[in-house]
Amino acid sequence: MTFKKTVVFAKKSTNIFLHILTRCNLKCQHCYINPEQHGTDILPLATIKAWLAVFAAKHPGSNVIFLGGEPTLHPALPSAVKHARELGFASITVDTNGYLFHDILSKVAPADVDYFSFSLDGATPHTHDGIRGSGAYAACLAGIRKANARGFATSVIYTVSLRNIHELEMMGPLLKDLAINRLFIQVIGLRGRSAPREQAVNRNQAWQVSREEWLGVIPGVASQIARLGITVTYPKVFLDPEEIFECAGLAAANYFVFPNGRVYQCPLCEDFPIHSLVFEKNRLVPTAQLNENDFFKLKIPEGCVMNKLIQPQNLKYGDSGEPEYRIACCMLKEEIAV
Ligand code: SF4
Ligand code: SF4
Repeated sequence: MTFKKTVVFAKKSTNIFLHILTRCNLKCQHCYINPEQHGTDILPLATIKAWLAVFAAKHPGSNVIFLGGEPTLHPALPSAVKHARELGFASITVDTNGYLFHDILSKVAPADVDYFSFSLDGATPHTHDGIRGSGAYAACLAGIRKANARGFATSVIYTVSLRNIHELEMMGPLLKDLAINRLFIQVIGLRGRSAPREQAVNRNQAWQVSREEWLGVIPGVASQIARLGITVTYPKVFLDPEEIFECAGLAAANYFVFPNGRVYQCPLCEDFPIHSLVFEKNRLVPTAQLNENDFFKLKIPEGCVMNKLIQPQNLKYGDSGEPEYRIACCMLKEEIAV
């Protein structure tokens, strides 16, 4: 039996998305990392520890997700992970493209890491490597198998776009074969170095799925995969008419932290210098207005303000000029649990 629920930003939990570097071994076509905005530094371990301590004190029992770039390229990742455990974070996740550098699996133990979360964007090498580069599929599958063999819990993140939506339904059997019991479906965003603003319209046409495609495929395939015993989480994206719109920037606590010290509360803001917080001398301080907080407060009939600003191609209007539907906060998820 499966249970579907809308996870209203898990309001009682706080999530720290800590990008410890922006360097990566891959050049994925849909990468959202934007070194101009996020910095190119590799955070020193002392800084990682100091920043983790700030969040541990501010939000005891929050979840931390180590990200990059490719976080396993950071030689101090094992120490950072262990330090996070000592500070009492509720869960510790490492997001990875699967290459697992610096022999990370032998430098941390399953007790140190709750999940290694692998980015897998296709059920076949053709599709995954088409997006992420030659050999990336084989490396990712090998990484998952190695992590499982060493006793780590593993999950998969599948970023849906026009390039791979057709292979989502093939993921169930593959995930079973890989002994994965959690799948996070994401939706392609128009962010990062691969989405300069002047190309956004063309890129949108090339990558972003329509409302009809999303609703026609995602909920059904998610249920199908969940029936195999895999917990599936996917973003709501389009609100039903009776659903209430809420902005996680106002209603939840999520922090997206970058090596240059910028701290955002909304991932859709990350391509702009409108972060609401910043680390200065290892202290987390608010930034001056105008910042993302000023956008969160705006009420518009289209739902998410940042969506309207950066990817208005998502929206459709009727003859009266009213939007035909509202876009949910990108952090509003549906979860189908086993
Ligand atoms: S999407 Fe991830 S794996 Fe791909 S280039 Fe960007 S940081 Fe690296
Ligand atoms: S995605 Fe939209 S609704 Fe969600 S935090 Fe950002 S601005 Fe708010």
